[in-house]
Amino acid sequence: MTIEFSETEKARLLEATIAGQLPDERGRFGPFGGRYVPETLVPALERLTEGMHRHLADRAFLERFRHELTTWVGRPTPLTEAPNLGRAWGAQVWLKREDLAHTGAHKINNAIGQALLAKLLGARRVIAETGAGQHGVASAAACARVGLPCTVYMGAVDVERQAPNVDRMRRLGAEVHAVQSGDRTLRSAIDEALRDWVSDPAGTYYLLGSAVGPHPYPYLVRELHCVIGRESRAQMLTAAGALPDAVFACVGGGSNAIGLFHPMVGDPGVALIGVEAGGRGGGLGEHSATLSRGRPGVLQGCYTLLLQDDDGQVQGTHSISAGLDYPGVGPEHALLQSIGRVRYTNARDDDALDALNECCALEGILPALETAHAFAGARAWARENSGRRILIGLSGRGDKDMPTLSRFPMEARHATA
Ligand SMILES: *Cc1c(COP(=O)(O)O)cnc(C)c1O
Repeated sequence: MTIEFSETEKARLLEATIAGQLPDERGRFGPFGGRYVPETLVPALERLTEGMHRHLADRAFLERFRHELTTWVGRPTPLTEAPNLGRAWGAQVWLKREDLAHTGAHKINNAIGQALLAKLLGARRVIAETGAGQHGVASAAACARVGLPCTVYMGAVDVERQAPNVDRMRRLGAEVHAVQSGDRTLRSAIDEALRDWVSDPAGTYYLLGSAVGPHPYPYLVRELHCVIGRESRAQMLTAAGALPDAVFACVGGGSNAIGLFHPMVGDPGVALIGVEAGGRGGGLGEHSATLSRGRPGVLQGCYTLLLQDDDGQVQGTHSISAGLDYPGVGPEHALLQSIGRVRYTNARDDDALDALNECCALEGILPALETAHAFAGARAWARENSGRRILIGLSGRGDKDMPTLSRFPMEARHATA
């Protein structure tokens, strides 16, 4: 379904990725990425690109970012061995605990980094969009921390699914807009945020929540999240004495996955595996497995893989987890799949639920429903590859999912096991 490359081209693109040469100056990861936006946004994106490069290369900015990550976010997050899961799966299992980061997920790395950048670039207000509500909470918290007003757009369906997070955002000082148009999930929230931004591109900073959208966001978000993979790599060497054989992360837009994977793309012995939402099945609108089933196209400013029908209409999606419920994916993942460096699988709703319950029961950790997809993918892999070292990106905690989880009582697991 995806773009085919010759072996030479694959090798060249892998080398460029490892050398940090992608995206190129046009914001391209090979054929993917770029900047497909209305004329009115081009100057704002150019200002952002210029400011981003300036500050990401500036010692003072990096020092301030690191200080916030250490003293406010709580980094480095621990690496936890999961011996009980390991016994059950016939593997050695390690968990990178982004659930222990401030506000309960990896998203805070990106939010505080961009909020600091917004302040330095002279923004008067920040807007953000959110699916699961985690990015909204992270943005609200980060904006409070740096002293900028924050408006969060959220699909009306998600507002309902994630009520506790809506209350948290408001308490952290953000204004929350429930978006009633379109599919009323993350995709419509992003459309609405873009609309807001077009009306005041100079004074408003758009704090994008995943490694998606027009250049420079896929690059910027990756750079702010690479701390996950850098820490994990060093922690595995210290704790396990070796790098993992396989690394798993769930993929919605792809930010926690790219942050974890990118620093290990150059380690040829490490298999990298992204797990998407397989939903209820493979039919139209039943899943959001973009990398497995998508085709190239343009969505929200970016050329990437998309779930679309034969006429190029973007398809509806479904996932039990709001954070994975998106018909596009970050352009760097589209490239990493095309060149064969990262493999992408998917886990169905019931598999993810079962893996979530298993992690709770065996390790005393309640992962987010998004994260549970990574566990389900890792468990399936462990069945075919016994005795390996597995690292799972535990992207967030599941407390926010209690309203959804309460619809699936524990007995159901034993009945279906
Ligand atoms: C938002 C979210 C995701 C999905 O977003 P990515 O950009 O794909 O990482 C995954 N896990 C958790 C806990 C989230 O909050």
